[in-house]
Amino acid sequence: MRILESHVAGSWQAPTADGVVTHHAVTGEPVASVSSAGVDLAAAVDHARTVGGPALRSLTFPERAALLKAVGLHLMAEKESLYELSTATGATRADSWIDVEGGAGVLLGYASKGRRELPDGHVLVDGDPEVLARDGSFLGVHVATPRRGVAVQVNAFNFPVWGVLEKLAPALLAGVPTIVKPATPTAFLTEAMVRLVVDAGILPDGALQLVCGRIDGLFDLLDGQDHVAFTGSADTANLLRSHPTLAARSVRFNAEADSLNAAVLGEAAAPGTTEFDLFVAEVVREMTVKAGQKCTAIRRALVPTTHLDAATEALAVALADVRVGDPADPDVGMGALVGTGQREEVRGAVMALRAKADVVVDACDFHGVDPDVGAFLAPTLLRATDPEARAVHATEAFGPVCTLVGYDGTDDAVRLAALGAGSLVASVVTPDAGEATALTLGIAAHHGRVHVLDAAAAGGSTGHGSPLPTLVHGGPGRAGGGEEMGGLRGIRHHMQTTAVQGSPDMLTAITGQWMPGATRHEDRGHPFRLHFDDLEVGTALRTASRTVTLDDIEDFAHSTGDHFYAHMDEEAASASPIFGGRVAHGYLVLSLAAGLFVWPDPGPVLANYGVDRCRFAKPTYPGDTLTVRLTAKRRTLRAGTGYGEVAWDAQVVNQDDEVVAAYDVLTMVANRPGVNGAPDGGGAD
Ligand code: NAP
Repeated sequence: MRILESHVAGSWQAPTADGVVTHHAVTGEPVASVSSAGVDLAAAVDHARTVGGPALRSLTFPERAALLKAVGLHLMAEKESLYELSTATGATRADSWIDVEGGAGVLLGYASKGRRELPDGHVLVDGDPEVLARDGSFLGVHVATPRRGVAVQVNAFNFPVWGVLEKLAPALLAGVPTIVKPATPTAFLTEAMVRLVVDAGILPDGALQLVCGRIDGLFDLLDGQDHVAFTGSADTANLLRSHPTLAARSVRFNAEADSLNAAVLGEAAAPGTTEFDLFVAEVVREMTVKAGQKCTAIRRALVPTTHLDAATEALAVALADVRVGDPADPDVGMGALVGTGQREEVRGAVMALRAKADVVVDACDFHGVDPDVGAFLAPTLLRATDPEARAVHATEAFGPVCTLVGYDGTDDAVRLAALGAGSLVASVVTPDAGEATALTLGIAAHHGRVHVLDAAAAGGSTGHGSPLPTLVHGGPGRAGGGEEMGGLRGIRHHMQTTAVQGSPDMLTAITGQWMPGATRHEDRGHPFRLHFDDLEVGTALRTASRTVTLDDIEDFAHSTGDHFYAHMDEEAASASPIFGGRVAHGYLVLSLAAGLFVWPDPGPVLANYGVDRCRFAKPTYPGDTLTVRLTAKRRTLRAGTGYGEVAWDAQVVNQDDEVVAAYDVLTMVANRPGVNGAPDGGGAD
């Protein structure tokens, strides 16, 4: 039996007293002793604030993304040791894949998003600046900066690796250190994972700490810069969120709680359709993966009363095919619950459900194990006798348990789904787009995610129960009212959004991004002849001018095939309320602008990879004279590539200085030879 240690203030600390003993889910043998006795929680908070936070905040977003990638790859390389330990939680290898590789995958996903989508700096500019003075001399812009506190995680037992990493990734990317408190039953696996990360020495000191055991008094140390992210039961969520210190100091609190997730079989998904079979397979998968110990598992299968008998029979047949037993056996489809205590809780919940539901299936053969020693439980399928009964919609049996509920018509299905009082996810399974729309929009307000499944989506579907790093995980009401991940949304939970007002030059200096009206430096020669390292935001060009002729417009129409009447038909264009005469193609304006601003010879600008936010503000008529004002707006170094990305603010103006087109030109610009991996002597003009 291992005595678990906590990692606090840069060192591993053994508890000073005996702890809670947790047991192997299959053999019942003691696995670990868990206690935080003697662990200095104040030191942990202080270390995070004074060591971990400053170290993370000194890194740019891409540097933090690189840390996530390194940790993710390290865990992938060491995954076998975690798989091995995982069996003691009752998980099969497939179950652990979600936890271990799924967890590493979240780190890698955030690493990639951070590298590609976040600026090469410390400040996130949120949206476009607002012009607050008529003459443009006073602007307002929203910026997000990392909070100067600590992210405290309180995790559920069922995903001891993924649960930590899905919270850690956005916090680290935002620049905020984390203290992890794992659930006692599976803390041994979290401890092993954190040990791998700490021993690898990838993260700065203080970025990740671990407290195994109770955290009494920790919340009293928190303040408005800190964040508590809880995952677990709704009851514990309610207890923790009402902690007086959290309320008094406005500590951010995010809860991912339990939920009575539904899968709705559409009326159009009659027996014999592909969608009917997909529904059956999805319900069985969700009942049996992790032995149903998933917050997202399908607890309520809503089925039209016309299909209810067929669905009941099909599910019973499919469940009979699930091999239940030793999770270490590769042929086993469902292992054990985390412990016998958890099994007793599930049995109690099933008894509560049975007051309002009949049993369809509650027995199976157990392969290679003694179900009385290990925490085994047969998949249990119930069928509600009263579809409205509160027990059916409010009792979470956190195991391989699902209740069939009959409904009559779409409105009834929507109403029954809402009786769950807020869920993480629902599946809508139907081949009919009209039915899918009515069901999805009907239930959306009660759900954090809706998974619409039909034959076309089946091959690529990521499944009902899989939260993804790019999508929001969380749900309203009973599900906790929280939100995690969701791509870059997730990092904003750890940042403060501040509206900053000031002059364009001041806001340019503060944000590192050129603001409209700020000083433009046109005295540095053609900016496309400058390497990335020599370009500053504000480096600018005012081009020569070019008059657009009717021949230009006609040539462009003939060479591209774009003969839209506004360019080619004088009479129709004159009648147009928008144009009042023939006008140049918007794309011709862009092309002429490029002809005005590009530097033709080989040089540091390697490629133009697109335009963003393009708007044609005014028509361009034959005879108009165009000029371009080009200004380096944003620079993002791509570490180790030999180049950086530069976004240029482009304003195409006519002879009256009216803007006819405005957009961002996106370019890749080489570093100086030998810098950032650029070839020696290469890329120079
Ligand atoms: P739990 O009993 O509510 O415990 C969750 C966490 O809270 C554990 O780390 C637990 O630590 C801690 N905790 C309990 N009382 C505390 C207190 N007074 N102060 C500080 N921490 C306290 O939940 P669980 O049994 O571990 O997990 C199963 C539940 O989690 C299910 O209801 C499931 O639906 C839900 N869940 C939700 C999600 C989601 O994303 N929404 C994901 C997974 C699971 P100890 O273990 O040391 O008591």
